[in-house]
Amino acid sequence: MAKPVVIEDVKTFLVQTAGPGTRFIIVKVITSEPGLYGLGCATFTQRFRAVYAAIEHHVKPFVIGKDVSRIEELFQMNLVNGYWRNGPVLNNAISGIDEALWDIKGKMANMPVYDLLGGKTREAAAVYAHADGRDPQEVLDNVRKFQEQGYHYIRVQMGGYGGKQDTMHRPEGALPGAYFDPRAYTRNMLRMIEYVRSHVGDEVELLHDVHERLSPIDTVKFAKDLEPYNLFFLEDSLAPEDIEWFRHIRKVCATPLAMGELFNNPREWRLLIEERLIDFIRMHVSQMGGITAARNAAIHAQIYGIRTAWHGPGDTSPVGHAANLHLDLWAPNFGIQEWCRFDNLVYDMFPGLPVVRNGYMYPNDRPGLGIDFDENLASKYPPKDEVDWWTQTRLPDGSPARP
Ligand code: MG
Repeated sequence: MAKPVVIEDVKTFLVQTAGPGTRFIIVKVITSEPGLYGLGCATFTQRFRAVYAAIEHHVKPFVIGKDVSRIEELFQMNLVNGYWRNGPVLNNAISGIDEALWDIKGKMANMPVYDLLGGKTREAAAVYAHADGRDPQEVLDNVRKFQEQGYHYIRVQMGGYGGKQDTMHRPEGALPGAYFDPRAYTRNMLRMIEYVRSHVGDEVELLHDVHERLSPIDTVKFAKDLEPYNLFFLEDSLAPEDIEWFRHIRKVCATPLAMGELFNNPREWRLLIEERLIDFIRMHVSQMGGITAARNAAIHAQIYGIRTAWHGPGDTSPVGHAANLHLDLWAPNFGIQEWCRFDNLVYDMFPGLPVVRNGYMYPNDRPGLGIDFDENLASKYPPKDEVDWWTQTRLPDGSPARP
């Protein structure tokens, strides 16, 4: 029997291309076969040094010398061999290895990863872009700019998550933070979405992300009030801790629902999928352990008629976006792909990063994930240890809230 190709080394790279939300973690798995390596995304921008340590001190010593062909077995063992499990730090570390092994297997087979998964069911993935603005007119102007670029699906927000308000009734001595008022938020967003819909007509698909900021009963009403505006989906309208409330939303309206970027384990979907309480699984693929975990969740959802909408904002690394795309091209139940539009620096640093034309994301058909990484260029952009501001969210009375 031929000697197996094994993992010879694991290198973990930290890079920051713009603000704190771009502190990417890229894992490179180097094999015993000269020149053969794979890349994986392990990006958790808010706790990037913890993921780095998990890979370098815990996951790497375990995987060195292991057979690269055994993706599933290594994934399953990585999930349990720390005994304490299901957290975002460890799952991202596992994803770095898992995605790199899919990349390696594709290179060995001379096939793109979507071929390993079962082959394409479509030529490109429809994507949605983010339109924001300070008022409804500015949101509308930005929606129109995306329409001119060929986007058919557009997420509309106003004043970022939570919708910043100029006037807020705060107590004396309220601590600094990113304040928002949930009740004002629902009123303002309804006004904005009504305004945008009335101007763009029915042809454009509009999406909105609540970012789990509302109380459950306010969310039930908000989803119901939005029904006439025919959203493509309403995202993260509830926190993971409150998912039983989806039953109540389902009873009162047919607003399509997307959920789950904060989930850690595929079994967290069970209630939502098996009771058909949502319409899109919104997994952050690296947060759940990589391509192996996402493939399993996609199949689970497909059986119940639920579609995929992998998380793909600016804090997913380019390698993570490539992994999303391969899953999108394969998944029979693909729904939509979020897309953040990287600048030229990122395209230079990650040759092969998927391109979007006319609202569709296209693969490059190279073997594996089809993306590479310029380590020398990346070394000029080390991450900074800044504390995030937008996650220091507070309600009008100053108490901490979900960001
Ligand atoms: Mg979201």
